[in-house]
Amino acid sequence: MSEAVVPQYTAVIAGKQVPATRWIDVLDPSNARLLARVARCGAAEVGAAVEAARHTYETLWRFTTPVERSRVCHRIAEVLRAERGDLARLETLDTGKPLSQSLVDADVAARYFDFYANTVEALGGETIQQQPGRLAFTLREPYGVCGHIIPWNYPLQIAARTVAPALAAGNCCVLKPAEDAPLTSLRLAEIVEEAGLPTGALNVVPGYGGEAGAALAAHPDVDRLAFTGSREVGEAVMIAAARNIVPVTLELGGKSPHLVLPDYDAALAVPQIVESITEHAGQNCSAGSRLLVHRSVHDELVDALAERFRSLRLGAGIDDPDMGPLISAKQRDRVLGYLSEGRRDAVVRAGGGVPGGEAYTDGFFVEPTILDQVTPENRVFNEEVFGPVLCVSVFDSLDEAVALAEHTTYGLAAGVWTSDVTTAHWLAQRLRAGQVFVNNYSAAGGVELPFGGYRRSGIGVEKGLEALREYTRCKTVAIHARLPS
Ligand code: NAD
Repeated sequence: MSEAVVPQYTAVIAGKQVPATRWIDVLDPSNARLLARVARCGAAEVGAAVEAARHTYETLWRFTTPVERSRVCHRIAEVLRAERGDLARLETLDTGKPLSQSLVDADVAARYFDFYANTVEALGGETIQQQPGRLAFTLREPYGVCGHIIPWNYPLQIAARTVAPALAAGNCCVLKPAEDAPLTSLRLAEIVEEAGLPTGALNVVPGYGGEAGAALAAHPDVDRLAFTGSREVGEAVMIAAARNIVPVTLELGGKSPHLVLPDYDAALAVPQIVESITEHAGQNCSAGSRLLVHRSVHDELVDALAERFRSLRLGAGIDDPDMGPLISAKQRDRVLGYLSEGRRDAVVRAGGGVPGGEAYTDGFFVEPTILDQVTPENRVFNEEVFGPVLCVSVFDSLDEAVALAEHTTYGLAAGVWTSDVTTAHWLAQRLRAGQVFVNNYSAAGGVELPFGGYRRSGIGVEKGLEALREYTRCKTVAIHARLPS
């Protein structure tokens, strides 16, 4: 692509494209070519975005009814569906993920707007029985201006998942997408406008985390923060929130295990275990990155998985392969670092490095990899690799399986594979994870399923009805209602 035709994307504040003087190069991960330039926003643009959101909130959006907000959200969903092909293509070029996955992401983004459009109409407070002569009740009110900081792995889905409940609940938003994959968030800013969302209700400011992200997290006129990303940055965002005494949702990383019992159903388990760690090349917060398997079924299961891993087709996302590249050279090198260290005390059963062949030399590809006989002392067992790397360990008893599952500080999701309902119940209660899937593994679950981490995987919940509640606060009203005697 020649310099002259590289598209440029700017911040969208109060419905306007804001001229930029500083730019960030956005690369196509499948070939490292320049895909676009995006504005490098800083504190000034973030300040203007917060001001725009505040203005729309105070003058308009907070006075709308749930029905009015519901109608707008439904229209946003319609436009997203109408644009799904173009959005998916943009998402794939930006993130490297297979096109069919991006089409799913576009559909799910629309579903978030429909779901919160439907549910906001049923949101209400409660009446409280207190004492005769007093009428007490609660109201669910929006916070005001919400700041949303999101990662690069599922930008369109995560943008929709975090701003749809906030907007439906009556808040106005400032969204800071990741520098590596900001394009669909900027397109979303145009789509909501086309769908009739008032100008300034959703503002998008791209830029580096340490500049635009830090400015948004620290802004004193932001009433609520939602952060999705790494644990390290989550900590910094929480400190910034603490300084302003504002609530913050943290959706952080994971090291989610599959627990496979001797009575598992291989036909169900094998394809889903493969998908859970190879979807978007394992760059998924709830990737099933650890396989904890009962010794009696270890060999048959790992053989079956290794065969599948070796058959996966790698390529540029736009050609819709089974697996695309990682997001960046930095991320690829990080994953390769984990592999070279982790394999020293493990057995490589599939993959293990960079795929050979001309098609893979320029992009950021890593082979889907199985490391077997990984012990908890191995760093790769505990830490989030964020790549297509499955670590396998054996257990002999349920207690041992739980101890292995919890030999990490994360607690995002877990998969349980057994035909025994008692074991399934017991494990679902025992495991410290925000989502437990039994005989299925749907990374991060559906739109309706609340999703939030235990332990260092986060605080608070997104998705489902819970998220709508999280974007409102509770006000109590007590009215003296005794009739004069
Ligand atoms: P990251 O933490 O590096 O970046 C996330 C966002 O934070 C980006 O927009 C980035 O620009 C911004 N940021 C960086 N430094 C900042 C700072 N000092 N202040 C404010 N913002 C800052 O994460 P990433 O590499 O983009 O994403 C990968 C991580 O995200 C993984 O750990 C993954 O598990 C996690 N993740 C979690 C979920 C979830 O729902 N739990 C979903 C997707 C990804």
